Amino acid sequence: MKKFAIRRMYSYFETTTQEVEDCTFDKKLELLDEELKILLAKYGLKFISHDIRFIALEKMSAKKCDNCDNLMINRDKNPTRFNKDNFWIDLDTDYNFVIFDGGNYEDKELCMECLPIEHRWGYFS
Ligand SMILES: [Zn+2]
Repeated sequence: MKKFAIRRMYSYFETTTQEVEDCTFDKKLELLDEELKILLAKYGLKFISHDIRFIALEKMSAKKCDNCDNLMINRDKNPTRFNKDNFWIDLDTDYNFVIFDGGNYEDKELCMECLPIEHRWGYFS
């Protein structure tokens, strides 16, 4: 039985509202897309599409884990995360591990992998 294997890939960079308004990264991202298409074709994959979403760090209590740099939402500050909005569902830890849950621990903000298991948002440690 034939199938299509759809493969997603996530990446991120940090930016500001001003840089977005000034299209600071547009040319660099266009060049990246062209190189990615060539690279994917080399391995027999066809580029289909991409999108870009912006997460307001302060508003969403999103940041990099103080220990390991995983992207996380501090659930102690933002218990509702993305409010289960379908726009963000692929980033959710229930579905995918793009943006981890996290919380406060001993003056640090740690992701679920770095928090002790007894912490409400600790998961692996
Ligand atoms: Zn971590």
